[in-house]
Amino acid sequence: MSDAPKRLTIEEFDRLCRRRMAAGTPMPAYAGPLERHVKDGDRRLLNLRYDDSPAAMRLWSFLLTEEERLHEARAAGRKIVGAMKDLGTVPVMAYSLPNVTAFYPDGAWWTPCVMELGEGLFGVAQSLGLGDALCPVRAMAGAFVNRAHFPIPDMLTCSVGATCDDFSAVAQRLESLGYPILWWEMPSRRRPENGEDAVTLPGGFAAPASQVATVRSELDRVRTALAELAGSPLGADQLAAGIREANRVRRILDDLRRLAYTADPCPMPALEMLIAEMLAIHFCSDRAESVAVLTELRDEVRARIFACRGVLPAGAARIFWVNPVADLRVMNLLEDCGARLCGTEYLFCHALDAIPADLPPMEALARTALADPMVGPSADRAARIVRDARSFGAEAVVVSRIPGASHCALEGSVIGEIVRSELGLPVVELEVPPVADPMWPTLTTRLEALVETVLERRKR
Ligand code: SF4
Repeated sequence: MSDAPKRLTIEEFDRLCRRRMAAGTPMPAYAGPLERHVKDGDRRLLNLRYDDSPAAMRLWSFLLTEEERLHEARAAGRKIVGAMKDLGTVPVMAYSLPNVTAFYPDGAWWTPCVMELGEGLFGVAQSLGLGDALCPVRAMAGAFVNRAHFPIPDMLTCSVGATCDDFSAVAQRLESLGYPILWWEMPSRRRPENGEDAVTLPGGFAAPASQVATVRSELDRVRTALAELAGSPLGADQLAAGIREANRVRRILDDLRRLAYTADPCPMPALEMLIAEMLAIHFCSDRAESVAVLTELRDEVRARIFACRGVLPAGAARIFWVNPVADLRVMNLLEDCGARLCGTEYLFCHALDAIPADLPPMEALARTALADPMVGPSADRAARIVRDARSFGAEAVVVSRIPGASHCALEGSVIGEIVRSELGLPVVELEVPPVADPMWPTLTTRLEALVETVLERRKR
């Protein structure tokens, strides 16, 4: 067996990156040491641990150069669409047009973490009346005001209706600041009544056909607006091609998740897997490159499995993780405590499921949007978590609470109750703030206790 892959400090990672560059290892133009991003203020990078593969280097550079990519797209005359909240559907439509780049301004959610609160986005949000009673998405308003991150989009869309109060408040405040938004209605998904026409959505939830029709007609307004912005048609043929490309990304990611979450020893760290999953939402502003980045990562995982090489010792406690962590460093902590990731539900599982290719494109997109786990009952979301945790062989579930998030007050106990009764697994709820250093001892103790519980249960 060759040397095991390692998790590196930023100094080790950058040294290795420079060595590979000097040796002429092929890398895309945007790739390079992470130190340059620290100089720009991304100080959390100093505290993270990184997978040592060239594939992970490409992934990190791809993620951290997204804002540059967006500015270059603007300079090249492309139209920029800021899709908000739906997480995975509007960008599929936007990237079906030749001259449009779409992204989620919602991604500013992580800026306070990555910059260790250094830029004061929460302070700007507070000055706009968006205080810490709201989840970290309030940083998005700060990013619109300070204009230090993404270019201001040519068009903003936002789903409304079955939307958390946090997002709704922040998006409405943005509009009041003079950023026009194309609002489209997302009904609260309900289970079909007896005898009602019903549709099974991608991922397995059921919904009344009438709700799918409502979403389809709302998305049709978005389609018309996108076509007007681009000055080119966005009909069934263009959308079908866009869906095919989005499904390519989803298929590679599906392979990657299945391999990385089931192989033992664990072939890829939790943090890199979190970033890989995020690429599904809007392709990190470059759809073709996201295919290449994910393919290289999947191939690295395959090669490691083939060679029995893992980044963690074999037999680590298998944890299914619910909700994204506001502090990325906590994904490293999970592994430092003797656990590994074996499945996730980061609020956007509908962006991972294949979009039906055998339906008219707008119908397929409407079904995909309505499959959002956050627009239906928590019990539906819990049922999906149970199904996925079972299929990935989870031994425990962590529900990571997001400070201020309106849905986090109660859903953790709903999910916990259903997981315990259906799977009999231990469930822990942890609150993770954007910079979790003051809570490190508590988080460590709770994760270590969970790992101990899992290992004890194996002896039964
Ligand atoms: S409350 Fe939850 S769903 Fe809403 S914006 Fe915040 S993290 Fe996203």
